Amino acid sequence: MIHTNVNNALQRTAYLFSVLLVLFGSLVSTTIFADTNPQQDTSQCTYITTSAITTSTPPQTQPKPALKYSITKNFSGGAFSSCTWHDANHLVVYVMPEDPKINPSPWYAFDITPLDITADNNIPLTITLDYSDFKHRYAPKQFNQQGWQHVTVPNDEQQLRANEQDNTSYTFDVTVTSPKVRIAAQPIIDIKGYQRWTTLLKKQLPSLQVATIGLTVEKRDISMLSHISDPSKPFIILIGRQHPPELTGAMAMLSFVPELLADTDLAKTFRKQFNVLIFPLVNPDGVHHGYWRHNMQATDLNRDWGPFTQFETSAVIAQINALTAQSEVWTMLDFHSTNRDILYTHSDNASQILPTLAKDWLAKINADGPIIFQRKSSHNPKLATTKTYFYERYNSPAITYELNDTSSPQDIALSSSRSAQHFMQLLLDYQTRTYQQQGTE
Ligand SMILES: [Zn+2]
Repeated sequence: MIHTNVNNALQRTAYLFSVLLVLFGSLVSTTIFADTNPQQDTSQCTYITTSAITTSTPPQTQPKPALKYSITKNFSGGAFSSCTWHDANHLVVYVMPEDPKINPSPWYAFDITPLDITADNNIPLTITLDYSDFKHRYAPKQFNQQGWQHVTVPNDEQQLRANEQDNTSYTFDVTVTSPKVRIAAQPIIDIKGYQRWTTLLKKQLPSLQVATIGLTVEKRDISMLSHISDPSKPFIILIGRQHPPELTGAMAMLSFVPELLADTDLAKTFRKQFNVLIFPLVNPDGVHHGYWRHNMQATDLNRDWGPFTQFETSAVIAQINALTAQSEVWTMLDFHSTNRDILYTHSDNASQILPTLAKDWLAKINADGPIIFQRKSSHNPKLATTKTYFYERYNSPAITYELNDTSSPQDIALSSSRSAQHFMQLLLDYQTRTYQQQGTE
């Protein structure tokens, strides 16, 4: 028995890391080396010799021909506003939001390619990320043979002081190795990454339905994964990536879902008793363009639940309305990232269905680790969030599942997998108790 458990745990761990490899590792072949043309965008970084580098408006100067690197953003998720060379070894990258008045989540992602591969590029390149009036949020990561790694924290005193002053810029050094280095605010999981993940899930569970339920403004697919064993049974709804740069929340969802669809006794029993609707990538346009928060119509999708003015939210709610018509929604989970690991819930006993789910679940998640979540209980009827909408409509738990920006992918994978197992067990226990009570009355 013990051996079986250990084997199951090992198999699951191996599976999780294979998912991580699919998500991050295969980017080596499909993205890093294949889809960019370094000659395309070399003119966009101008060369300056004077002018303060801290101003947010790039100076109007002529490009200098003898540059050592090209800077490109012509890949899915690639983003920055403009760039200048302060000197041959100091690049300033201006990072601006898609729309004014937006929550400060400066997202950036770009490739640096040495233009002369015979030259000695071991001299570190200094990069300043300039966010204008916005605050720094994401410590830079670089993609190399080991996958995504944190860029080393600056050890130069002057850089450290500059970064700590008002937090509207961040300066660091990076050694650019051939053929190129990708720098980004977080590990990139783009639309192709979700497609690879979906293919893997479908292979794992052929009865999983995968459908395009609508198109965005730029005609990208809005997808739904569903597993409906009996439409009269309760539904669980999972929502992801409404906010493009919130990658740690995305990673949590990408490890949570496979557990629900796994070939384990627990998951199989769960799927007999509950139907699952999964909307993993609600804002594909925003993800593609490297937006900080909005879709193509300058709208925060997590403020459109109720109005449903956007293609993305309308497509999702139309499916939920149609598919759950004969039943109830028992829980909605919406995955995000913020500056801590936290579940935003309603207060205990506020809902008729599963009144203590958040409390019971949190205790189990935190007993297991490796991530310890805080909890904040509140209800704000004025905010048209997913959480408010589902709670008010179904009177069941609606939880915003938020990961810290700085939580590691490995910890997130383990925590989310365990969290999903507890989630399934608690729902099954609750359902058994409900039917027992009904039977004795
Ligand atoms: Zn968010």
